[in-house]
Amino acid sequence: MTAAEGTRLARVRAGMEVARIDALLLSLGADLPWLTGYEAMPLERLTMLVIPLASEPLLVVPLLEEPRVPALTRELAGVRAWSEDEDPIELVAAALPDRRGSFAVSDRMWAAPLLALQDRLPGARWSPASTVTGPVRAVKDASEIAALEAAAASADRVAADLQSGAIPVGGRTERQVAADIGRRLVEEGHQRVNFAIVASGPNGASPHHEPTDRVIVAGDTVVCDFGGTLSLASGAGYCSDITRTLSVGEPTADVLVRYEALAASQAAGRATARAGVVASAVDAAARSVIDEAGFGARFVHRTGHGIGVEEHEDPYLVAGNPEVLVPGNAFSIEPGIYEPGRFGMRLEDIVVIDPDGTGRSINGADRSLVVVDP
Ligand code: ZN
Ligand code: ZN
Ligand code: ZN
Repeated sequence: MTAAEGTRLARVRAGMEVARIDALLLSLGADLPWLTGYEAMPLERLTMLVIPLASEPLLVVPLLEEPRVPALTRELAGVRAWSEDEDPIELVAAALPDRRGSFAVSDRMWAAPLLALQDRLPGARWSPASTVTGPVRAVKDASEIAALEAAAASADRVAADLQSGAIPVGGRTERQVAADIGRRLVEEGHQRVNFAIVASGPNGASPHHEPTDRVIVAGDTVVCDFGGTLSLASGAGYCSDITRTLSVGEPTADVLVRYEALAASQAAGRATARAGVVASAVDAAARSVIDEAGFGARFVHRTGHGIGVEEHEDPYLVAGNPEVLVPGNAFSIEPGIYEPGRFGMRLEDIVVIDPDGTGRSINGADRSLVVVDP
């Protein structure tokens, strides 16, 4: 077991103790690869790592999947491969310290095996694994921050290609531009592309717009928001996520006045993010700038989300979140202004809280409204 994995398991166990969880049950989703280096295939056949609070972990895995279980995982957990004539639900139940305990299960596991487990263990209490793993995953160690920095630098190079015209935008469809972004993310070291939003003209007013065959023309703003997962030698990969907005030809005064407010809002968010500040205060700092400029009603989403082995994880920078930021947190700051039927704009960086408590953007691509050729 490497030091990092050992530390993670120890931190997870400490979290289980605080949350009074008798066993953590990890199946599909990011917790299992983050903790053990093994990613379960999204099969109907059950894979489940049982981590009792006080005894050895056991990975219950389909026999045909067993060859994929890496050595790293085998150092952390015993492996029980089940054949097609066995009942994996019973194997999981038998590995629990107490059938009437308190169990935390992967947030993204299939409903069907969870319902079967609940049926088999009528006296048990259930909660999502994120109540234990969320706070642990939200505090990254130095190697995780380095992986996020590498992912951010890769995404920056793709953003620079859009801003320089190396990926042309004018006269092309959103879908064509999105395909180029995806290809460049992979060339820059990403193992997979998680999303590539290209939202031009009126489509920019929909924050999560899916690229279409709309041809990008002079006078459009183009919101480009993309990210992927960078490969790591072992275990889970870390994500990138960046947004830059382009102007195809010179922007109108309406666009410029809003972009000025947007850039100031994002800078205010970055300046506020540091250890000891509550997450909601970063949202408030970014939001107040757009409110004061008169566009508050057009900023329709939270300011940011944590990022790590998943694109969206704790901490969320949203009104009402009282979580206090600490060194090791990594999250986006991404205010936007959306004018239905007309245009939209968003500006997004990933910010990390350094060991000395200061916030630092790990994205360096030009934050201005770059004008590209029609
Ligand atoms: Zn989003
Ligand atoms: Zn994004
Ligand atoms: Zn984001």
